[in-house]
Amino acid sequence: MNQRLPVQGAQGDLLRLVATGRAESRAELARLSGLAASSVSLRVEELIDAGLLAEEGSGTSRGGRRPRRLRLSSGAGVLAVADLGSHHVRLGLLDLSGAPLVIEERGCEIADGPQATLDAIADAFDELLAEHVPPGTPLRGVGTGIPGPVDPATLRVVTPSRMPGWNDFPVADHLAARYDLPVLVENDANLMAAGEARWWPERENLMVVKAGTGIGCGVVVNGRLHRGRGAAGDISHVRVLSDDSILCACGHPDCLEAHASGAALMSVLRGSGIEVARTADVVTLVNDAVPEATSLVRTAGRRIGEVLTVLVNFFNPDVVAVGGSLSAAEPLITSIRAAVWERCLPLATRDLEIAPARAGRDAALLGAGALLLDAALTGR
Ligand SMILES: [Zn+2]
Repeated sequence: MNQRLPVQGAQGDLLRLVATGRAESRAELARLSGLAASSVSLRVEELIDAGLLAEEGSGTSRGGRRPRRLRLSSGAGVLAVADLGSHHVRLGLLDLSGAPLVIEERGCEIADGPQATLDAIADAFDELLAEHVPPGTPLRGVGTGIPGPVDPATLRVVTPSRMPGWNDFPVADHLAARYDLPVLVENDANLMAAGEARWWPERENLMVVKAGTGIGCGVVVNGRLHRGRGAAGDISHVRVLSDDSILCACGHPDCLEAHASGAALMSVLRGSGIEVARTADVVTLVNDAVPEATSLVRTAGRRIGEVLTVLVNFFNPDVVAVGGSLSAAEPLITSIRAAVWERCLPLATRDLEIAPARAGRDAALLGAGALLLDAALTGR
């Protein structure tokens, strides 16, 4: 069952406050929203009638009146989200608070092109919904992360690397034609940044680096994802200094991605006769203390760190979180830290944390849930 969230205006703001765990009583809603108590009560009643909120503890009185506790209704709805990689897709069904009902990973070749890939994702969503969601609980929105640049105005993919057939494909329109629901399409590093930000509630400004087969970065400013014109945070095609020149998939020589991505390291290892099929294999080689792999990862970390040096001086983030499959190789973060500490201004690094990402491998799915809830509440 697909159904848009039946909320208007301030109802959406109140539902968001409860869904994100920031408010659990009418009094807290009034304080956080700035609305009058009577106005909050009216809208809460409407949300309860619509089956979106439930209120516990009503009518119990022991001495003073105990505040009744608001929570999402269990049947309020689910969100279906995906995080697409080159050879796999992670899929999740989340409730409106972003809590996963089920997450699973399936094989999926992005090089098969957008129609086949998106239809496979949608078929997988349908299977998971049939299996894990009680009948009558509506689907409220669908979203997917894309390992390439996404135009936030059109939700089309724009000149991606290693994604044949995807350029300018209307991803959101294709999914909306199947679901008639709010659709989120977002760069994967941006989703990871949005998910990671929830794990650093005390920190406002983050750079979240995704070091996997490719290299991406998402930027969180004042607690919110900063998209810019869509390519904000893209560090993959910054030119790095190197003795041996490598042509990047974008056509320019010596991009960071051409030297320091998982794909780049795999190609060097294969060139020296070491078999690797995926980025995780590089991590395994490092953990097995294979010197070629350790040296390559260390150099990759230093190059990423040198690029970050410029950005840390310029942006002064509170946190640089490093995730993605290559981040499991310990020398990567050590080398990034060393480069940033060596070259950045003391004021920029004084309270800076450079740390492994906290949200784990489902960061992008959790970020997709948070952003998709916003889209569903504004009816986009
Ligand atoms: Zn490039």
